[in-house]
Amino acid sequence: MRRKITFYDIYIFVATMLSLSIWGSTGNGLSGLIVFGFFWLIGIPFRASAWATSRLNSRPCPVCGVRVRNGETQCGSCGTDFRLQ
Ligand SMILES: [Zn+2]
Repeated sequence: MRRKITFYDIYIFVATMLSLSIWGSTGNGLSGLIVFGFFWLIGIPFRASAWATSRLNSRPCPVCGVRVRNGETQCGSCGTDFRLQ
């Protein structure tokens, strides 16, 4: 299954890199973890809004229940073609 890179993926990548660089420069894994936790907390509203958007623009597959985006004619999980129903 193909996964689209979202703004949040980039954000977490940057947060991870920043945490690792702080870990590397201070030699203290805990401070790197704190920085990552801080970014993770800030990211919660972004994740929540992305989740709400995908929830509004999708419907569950009648076969396997995986949510499929509106406009897509095939389930990405089980391959059911909605045009046949
Ligand atoms: Zn399905």
